[in-house]
Amino acid sequence: MTTSRLSRRRALVTGAATGIGRAIAVRFAEEGAEVCLNHRDRSDDPDAALAEVEAASRKAGFTAARHLAIAADVAERFQVEAMVAEAVAAWGGLDILVNNAGIQSFAPSEDLAEAELRRILDVNLIGAWHCAQAAIRHFLAAGKPGVILSNSSVHQIVPKPGYLPYSLSKAGLGNMTRTLALEYAGRGIRVNAVAPGAIDTPLNRGWTGDPEKRRAVESHIPMGRAGAPEEIAAVFAFLASDEASYITGQTIYACGGLTLFGEFRSDWSSQSD
Ligand code: NAD
Repeated sequence: MTTSRLSRRRALVTGAATGIGRAIAVRFAEEGAEVCLNHRDRSDDPDAALAEVEAASRKAGFTAARHLAIAADVAERFQVEAMVAEAVAAWGGLDILVNNAGIQSFAPSEDLAEAELRRILDVNLIGAWHCAQAAIRHFLAAGKPGVILSNSSVHQIVPKPGYLPYSLSKAGLGNMTRTLALEYAGRGIRVNAVAPGAIDTPLNRGWTGDPEKRRAVESHIPMGRAGAPEEIAAVFAFLASDEASYITGQTIYACGGLTLFGEFRSDWSSQSD
């Protein structure tokens, strides 16, 4: 069920041509927002994503919504500043930022190259900060309220062996969320995060298309299945809307119970006989 909770809101979503970012862009458009889809380059087919977002708006009756697609590498500060300036100029303002762009790669920590650690932190954490800072400067200059949301991960708190840069970046996003929330709570800017579990997106192409690997992954999830991007987008839409007007500095875990220590489903730890 969708509503018009985001009517007349202008939202920039990073990494929005694929996966969860694309689902967020579509959901926001369905709820009345105007959306700027950020994409790194043309390899993700941003035109198809933009067309889907435009169709979603039209179908929901928001025929005047003006959507944008802007290329920028979030790791590059000047590209981010130019992107935010372009969106603000096109719309006359910006109300919501969603830091969604993210990457990961596997390396045993004894082999991890410093350049790879920096590459992942530069996108997932520093990139999110570039975008947050540009958005905060705009919100403060405009004297209007603003919302900043980040796509974190259960790995904000759950260790992910072999993925140290990813785990570090998501833990950092958790504290960036709390710190910025506290710093700007009195100035009308709400800052929150969503932490998905295992979601069916291109990031997980290593197992989503292989039934045996998928079964193995899903056996660890208390709800017994991977999540859909749309189930994560719904949480972002709530947090972006005025229904979440008294929520700041929080991370909502949308993970099918992954953070609940699933091994405790059966009583193995306290049995006496
Ligand atoms: P995805 O690979 O489809 O999405 C990532 C997007 O980020 C892509 O569109 C990619 O082009 C973009 N991107 C990468 N580097 C960029 C850069 N430098 N500048 C701009 N854009 C860039 O995968 P996804 O699963 O939709 O991931 C989206 C977010 O969700 C990521 O932050 C990821 O960590 C997070 N997440 C995903 C899962 C999951 O299971 N899929 C779980 C938890 C968190």
